[in-house]
Amino acid sequence: MFNIKYACPNCGHSWEEVYECACDSECPECETRNIEALEYKEID
Ligand SMILES: [Zn+2]
Repeated sequence: MFNIKYACPNCGHSWEEVYECACDSECPECETRNIEALEYKEID
């Protein structure tokens, strides 16, 4: 699993997700899609 950080280029919102891959995500604030992972680290 990965702890992944994202920052939305559209509204400036930043958030983290835990997921099995560091794939693109969607902004929970403005629903902008295909936001690339800012950084991520592997967790158990
Ligand atoms: Zn946004």
